[in-house]
Amino acid sequence: MKDKTFLMIPGPTPVPESVLLAMAKHPIGHRSSEFSCVLEETYENLKWAFQTKNDVFIYTSSGTGAMEAALSNLLNPGDKVLSLIIGNFGQRWAKIAASRGAVVDTIEVEPGCAINPDELEARLAADVNKEIKVVTLTHNETSTGVTNDVKTLVKLINKHGAVSVVDGVTSIGAMECKMDEWGIDVLISGSQKGFMIPPGLAFLAASEKAFKLHEKCENPSFYFNWSAYKKSVKDNSTPYTPAVNLIVALDEALKMMKKEGLEEIFARHKRHAKALRAAIRAMGLKLFVEDDSVASCAITAILPPEGISVPDIRKVLKKDYDIVVANGQNQLKDKIFRMGTLGYVCDRDLIAAVGSLEAALKKLGHKFRPGAGMAALIEELTA
Ligand SMILES: *Cc1c(COP(=O)(O)O)cnc(C)c1O
Repeated sequence: MKDKTFLMIPGPTPVPESVLLAMAKHPIGHRSSEFSCVLEETYENLKWAFQTKNDVFIYTSSGTGAMEAALSNLLNPGDKVLSLIIGNFGQRWAKIAASRGAVVDTIEVEPGCAINPDELEARLAADVNKEIKVVTLTHNETSTGVTNDVKTLVKLINKHGAVSVVDGVTSIGAMECKMDEWGIDVLISGSQKGFMIPPGLAFLAASEKAFKLHEKCENPSFYFNWSAYKKSVKDNSTPYTPAVNLIVALDEALKMMKKEGLEEIFARHKRHAKALRAAIRAMGLKLFVEDDSVASCAITAILPPEGISVPDIRKVLKKDYDIVVANGQNQLKDKIFRMGTLGYVCDRDLIAAVGSLEAALKKLGHKFRPGAGMAALIEELTA
């Protein structure tokens, strides 16, 4: 079986054919009026996706570039940062902050758990001299499949007065993330997750409060400089040569997203993750995140059955069914596998994936009644 690969990893995610075709055209000049029109529309639609009135900058980088763009425009050496860590990507914020010379304090929880708002509230209350300048957090932690209650956490950060810096790489375009209404100061995302285009673009929006702190940043990044990007957005332009074809693809993808509607997109992700979780349980497998209330609707982390290895499950799924699922990261490598239901995913994809997973597990000797997961899935999808 060739050329039918279904990427069920949490990025890159499947790309719609219309988006691929949009990208396949000759590049146009990035200073042309034609490209300006594309950018004008794209900037506007990105604001819609971020649910913000703030400008959204487009960087030519992966998501981590936007993370660096966030902190390298805010921090001076010695600044105090509080990093809320529930997995690999939360840890990355702390590492980037440290690379800017910041003094990094953390709240860290067991993998599979979310940040407890009470713990954050207590930590912020203890900072009576308001030394904490920035709090970093992850909306949807891709490494564990846990979603933080960003709305509540950001409310607490705003009460304290620090600038909130939120990783929305696998939440924007998959779950409710209201930048302005929730008072998020800096929100970043990347192209190869919920936005349904290949890797290579990253996005960042910053509030007025964040810009005030930016003004005090003595050595901001040159390439990622917020002020330069802000000026360019006004002119429907970019400071340097952007990834023209990817932006044309983004324009197309955002139009598709608008056609579906944000609420509908979120409902689809929620429905898919819920159905997948029901199917996994029905197959006699354990979910890594048992608590439905913090389980991600973009990524589902699953424990392999007793005696069957994660690499074997991944191998059979790939070889026999052309479906790619992700391994765990770092200390969770070979302990869990992760199925993404993020971006351009429809019911049929999920039916194919669950059926294939059942077949793979049967081949590997898992004792269960084939069809049990499928029955649960179909029950949920047709409810
Ligand atoms: C993918 C991802 C990133 C960015 O990773 P890149 O490989 O740099 O694109 C950041 N945060 C989360 C939560 C992610 O899933």
